[in-house]
Amino acid sequence: MYVKRDKYRHVINISRIVINDGTGNLDIVAFGKTREELLNYILSYYPMIKEGDYVEVKGKISVYNGKYEIILNDIEDFKLIEKRNFERDIYLSSTPTNIYASKYGKKYHTSKNCPYGKRLKEENIIYFYSEDDAKVLGYEKCKWCEEHGE
Ligand SMILES: [Zn+2]
Repeated sequence: MYVKRDKYRHVINISRIVINDGTGNLDIVAFGKTREELLNYILSYYPMIKEGDYVEVKGKISVYNGKYEIILNDIEDFKLIEKRNFERDIYLSSTPTNIYASKYGKKYHTSKNCPYGKRLKEENIIYFYSEDDAKVLGYEKCKWCEEHGE
């Protein structure tokens, strides 16, 4: 599943869903209202439907640009049958927290007094809900913040 996220990592659109039935890959295609309903359906699960989950899809198969796709007529034609991927959905905080980083950097900070943290430009700062979230997103704790115990 390929998704578009806003700056707080909330999923706002789905660019592509590919399913595999054991024989090959099929793109799931939905238009208009069904497309919106499909996005809402996927987001209605917590954690949201993602790679590895088992779904049942009914629709018309067609070939587009040499690839197989299945066209959904109705949201009822797409159903989650078994949740397999329980990976957490990670979002960023829209209000400042004590755990922050530059969106272009690799280190996160936990102290407001950190000299490295203070150098970050406000418009580039992202705020995490937890240190665990920062780590899962690939950030490492800044040495200064680590040593100053905050
Ligand atoms: Zn720091």
